[in-house]
Amino acid sequence: MGGSTIRPKKFQAPALSKRPKRNLKNVRATNRKHVALGLKASTHDRGTDKSRRTGTRLRRLTQEIYFADITQWSDGKAEKFLRSHEVLPGKKEKLHCWECDSVLEKSNKASSSSGNDVVDVLQCPRCRTKGRHALELKNASLSYTPFWSSMSRGYSPQYALWLRVLFAVSVKVPKDSILHMVQDAKHSLSEKLLDRWVNECFFVLAYMESKEQEKVQFQDEIVELDGSKVCSHKKTSQPTHLKRRRRTKSSNTIVKPPLPGRFARNQAARGDKRPMVHHGRMLYVKGRGSRKVVMVTMRPRTTQKGAPSPPEDATTVRKALQRHVDAKSCVSATDSAKALTATCRKFGLPNAPARHCIDEMSPTVELNQSDMTKQQQKTLTKASKVLKRPAALKRKQSFLIVGGDNSAESEISRAKGQMRRTNMLGRISPRNAQVQQFAVKRLLEKPGLMPLVTAFAEYRRDRKNQMGIQPGHAFQIDKDNTWLP
Ligand SMILES: [Zn+2]
Repeated sequence: MGGSTIRPKKFQAPALSKRPKRNLKNVRATNRKHVALGLKASTHDRGTDKSRRTGTRLRRLTQEIYFADITQWSDGKAEKFLRSHEVLPGKKEKLHCWECDSVLEKSNKASSSSGNDVVDVLQCPRCRTKGRHALELKNASLSYTPFWSSMSRGYSPQYALWLRVLFAVSVKVPKDSILHMVQDAKHSLSEKLLDRWVNECFFVLAYMESKEQEKVQFQDEIVELDGSKVCSHKKTSQPTHLKRRRRTKSSNTIVKPPLPGRFARNQAARGDKRPMVHHGRMLYVKGRGSRKVVMVTMRPRTTQKGAPSPPEDATTVRKALQRHVDAKSCVSATDSAKALTATCRKFGLPNAPARHCIDEMSPTVELNQSDMTKQQQKTLTKASKVLKRPAALKRKQSFLIVGGDNSAESEISRAKGQMRRTNMLGRISPRNAQVQQFAVKRLLEKPGLMPLVTAFAEYRRDRKNQMGIQPGHAFQIDKDNTWLP
């Protein structure tokens, strides 16, 4: 005769088997529990100190060179500027062969046969082409610059016009507007050439960003992981892949049926059963304390239309953790996607998940001290000892921290906002979808002409001494993509 009528029913403890009902009030209570405890997602105290914010606001940016000045520049002046900033090579620079790494020599061929300016043709002393001629490079002084591929079609390089385009891209002007900004009575620019130039800008920006992210190591902090995708296409043919080697056999192309109920209705309304290909998928890893972000690419995935977007791949998560996260001293916070939680467990990262499926965004999660390494305990103890904005509360046998991946998600929405601004969201080619995300991240942090100019210089410097990428393949993401993580 358990609880007979000693207490009225409304005062009885709730039955253990019953979970709290999922309604707005309960959800809000879970999401705000940390507020009552005075617990913050990160110890990072911005307060009035704006200097530690990531990125430079465009309106706060001061540039040494104004756009109006650049429009006055002649090709000669622009060339001098580019040469002094090493976008164009110095007169005495040596070039290495992309096949065998030996220094290229002056061509010994007479000029009469091709009519080309022999001064600018170099050849490799060792390599031979199929016809047993020496491997030649025309317009050698422009190799690994954006002007090389135009030269092969007999144009002369338009340095001044290119610099105008560069400036416009560096302050986030949409592509269709650039066309109207940079042309004048003497200089005209085709849409196709503009397209190429703008894509090359994004390419080098992405290259620099990924190069910088390579060095990032997360240590002694709470890291968040979340996936993003920026464009979905109706499946028309095979999805295009940047990396040709398949890692898993065909799991990527299994067509997932939509969830019953909510999504089934959606699909019927759209009246289309063609599969969707999700492109531009990336995994974002963000440190709550350091605010550093690392992005790792994911392969495109196919689902049925109306189905939820595909989850993160375990292989990608593993790669990101291996490369960038010191598992011994870090604690992770993710959503409850299986690849994320399972992989974090495998690496020995105590994980504080949020459950988005029941609108649980920032729950307060208790992590047992016994499940942690000494260093992880040290990390959280340190976070709990901060007087202002503690990121952890120390209990006797556990720590309380805020779960979920809000910070990583805001990073994704920041990137998407930037892409939307320049008309790049949803309408870019799948090939550029990942490059775009790296590039906008770079533009957020370092807008302005000079960072973009140095990006071109650094790309040229890296490529001219590196084997593998021939000048004709420079700036092409389908040919030069080994740098993409
Ligand atoms: Zn060679």
